Amino acid sequence: MAEKVWFTDANATNWTEALAPKAKDLFYEAKLNQCIAKGDSVAVKIHVGEWNRSRCLRPELVAAIVEEVKACGGRPFVTDTTTVVYHLFNSRCTGALELETAARHGFTEGALGCPVIIADGFSGDDDVRVELPTGVILKEAYVAGALVHADAMINLAHAKGHPITSFGGCVKNIGIGGQSKRGKYNEHLAHWGSPEDFIGWPAIYPDQCLNLGCEFHKLCEDGCHRGAIVIDENGFHLDTEKCRLCYSCQVTCIFTGHGCATFVPDYFPYSQMAMSDAALGVMKCFEKGKVGHMAYCIDVDPNCDCIPWATLPVSPDIGVFASMDCVALDSAILDMIDAAPVYPGGANKAFEGVPGGYKQGMDKFKITQSTAPRFQLTAAVKNGLGVMEYDLITYEPPLTAEHMAKWQIRTTPTTLIQRAMWEKRDFLKEVEPFQRIPFATKPPLADYDAADRTPFLKKLPVKAWVEALGK
Ligand code: SF4
Ligand code: SF4
Repeated sequence: MAEKVWFTDANATNWTEALAPKAKDLFYEAKLNQCIAKGDSVAVKIHVGEWNRSRCLRPELVAAIVEEVKACGGRPFVTDTTTVVYHLFNSRCTGALELETAARHGFTEGALGCPVIIADGFSGDDDVRVELPTGVILKEAYVAGALVHADAMINLAHAKGHPITSFGGCVKNIGIGGQSKRGKYNEHLAHWGSPEDFIGWPAIYPDQCLNLGCEFHKLCEDGCHRGAIVIDENGFHLDTEKCRLCYSCQVTCIFTGHGCATFVPDYFPYSQMAMSDAALGVMKCFEKGKVGHMAYCIDVDPNCDCIPWATLPVSPDIGVFASMDCVALDSAILDMIDAAPVYPGGANKAFEGVPGGYKQGMDKFKITQSTAPRFQLTAAVKNGLGVMEYDLITYEPPLTAEHMAKWQIRTTPTTLIQRAMWEKRDFLKEVEPFQRIPFATKPPLADYDAADRTPFLKKLPVKAWVEALGK
């Protein structure tokens, strides 16, 4: 049976069509307000993004939902979890560092209007074990304490790609983002399979290691929080017994352009399936009907907000989605991203090697991340988390005087404040704040219009954009 997914696009031509007001509308259209009873403690689960990441959710878009949780009588807190140390300069490995990172992205109590909490505590070990008898791979999850103890949750995701799970939407926002540290290790599958088949361990190709000749060899060793890596004159040595599969060695090696520490391709689909099991673990902590899912599908970077940089998106901004079923919602998002045009210039370095790049209608994340993204959805159907079929309900806000005023900073025009200020100044016989300037001579506009810049633009080093010029 199909589940309903509400959608509104990112286009705007007037007040009612701004993204934050439309997200507020969608919150009610999808009846997410019914998840919240008066006095409920409500987790608003977001991804705060990694330090130096510039395509994260914006505080205003999160505050818009926090405001409506409060309007429903809920007591919201915005939350995310600590991470395993999956790269050398990871900025969210402790609760304190993560709060600094959140603040740098504007996620503060002042901006959001509610507390910001790290759901699994300072060291990431505040969790509750949840059994998963229907799990496809995982039979247990370790859910972050603040989510376990909240009465309701708005799972507020940013839809984008992911280097391990191919796509990250609402399932990932709780499937990885709702787990404590040991929950994340658990779903990284470090102890799944055997060292021989490599699925649960880093895939190491020692002959690809430059050893002491690698500029990054010291960082490579230091990047292992388990001290499992030694690089010496005899080569690269990994103690798999110590490894917890944090990804740090792979991230160092891959992103510095080397091929020693990496993954086997089979790892990626299975990691998606484990993530969906872990998402089920979070949902099991709430009574039926107490979790609503929303996602902003904007800044659709091929990589996740856990990557400490951002690149050009794979598609233009698409809009906002809301549903009571996170699987149907993610399914709709993926279909919309694939159906969307290719972002100009977005087929950049990451996609070199794909003949012709990717095109509108293709599975964009399968190409950009080399793994199809829907393993997570089929696993989520099998474990009982949700359904992939959806009825898409497109929402257009009414352009009425009442609706125009509804989500403004004040519901009466602020022009009236200014009018009162002028009246006060008139009353005090204040001088006019400007002088009228008569035209002595009116300069012809043509003298000031920009000349044809095409010859200069063609010299710009932005190949994909500039190729079209002058055609
Ligand atoms: S980054 Fe890669 S090539 Fe360099 S030392 Fe580490 S494993 Fe070897
Ligand atoms: S060896 Fe294991 S624990 Fe160490 S950095 Fe690599 S993945 Fe992480």
